[in-house]
Amino acid sequence: MRKPLIAGNWKMNKTIQEAVDFANEVKGLVPDRSKVDSIICAPALFLDRLLAAVDGYNVHIGAQTMHYEESGAFTGEISPAALEDLGVSYCIIGHSERRDMFNETDESVNKKTAAAFRHNIKPIICVGETLEQRERNETKGHVANQVSKALQGLTEEQVKQLIIAYEPIWAIGTGKSSTAEDANEVCGHIRQVVESSYSGSAAQSVKILYGGSVNPGNIDELMAKPEIDGALVGGASLDPHSFLRLLEAA
Ligand code: 13P
Repeated sequence: MRKPLIAGNWKMNKTIQEAVDFANEVKGLVPDRSKVDSIICAPALFLDRLLAAVDGYNVHIGAQTMHYEESGAFTGEISPAALEDLGVSYCIIGHSERRDMFNETDESVNKKTAAAFRHNIKPIICVGETLEQRERNETKGHVANQVSKALQGLTEEQVKQLIIAYEPIWAIGTGKSSTAEDANEVCGHIRQVVESSYSGSAAQSVKILYGGSVNPGNIDELMAKPEIDGALVGGASLDPHSFLRLLEAA
């Protein structure tokens, strides 16, 4: 059985104090780690303070991006070694906002995924189609292609620890979530891609999240679907009460 997982992606929101206040408010109230894993993916500047605030609680801290090189002349970037050193255990890789605005490609997503594993960081790889691709009926082909390219060169053991987030771009921040049926179908397709490239047991181990306008009103329906193991949540993860409600539903 795959344990449910709720990951908040705070994007470029909150001040450090607001982040620490959030952590202090939720940490004692999150459900038991036997029931659900919770992750907060925060701006890099907050990671150290958040790690200290949630130490010993069922809240993991993740980054929102990182470079794939160990070190070097990459002004403004963050190395996987630095994240590992800090104690960060997860990192979002290839979010559509980074693909769209910061030149992330399938190739850089693949390199970052491999780098994350070298540094004991679990990658949360994001894939998803645009509205135009959906309307042209290209969703499954596009998502399968993104997944295959992201996973190139990974071992079966690595794939078993992966988290893949299916986030249709048209559903992000729009209040217009995918239906649970459609999301389940695409997540199932991603699992098939993993099965055909690796094995049935890899496909059964990989965690597949849905993201895109997830909120306390639609989480139950999404979590009831067999292929959906959890959610990657933007806006609704910023409020402590709604984040806790999502965790309770998972
Ligand atoms: P929203 O939940 O705000 O739609 O954002 C989804 C997302 O991009 C999470 O990575």
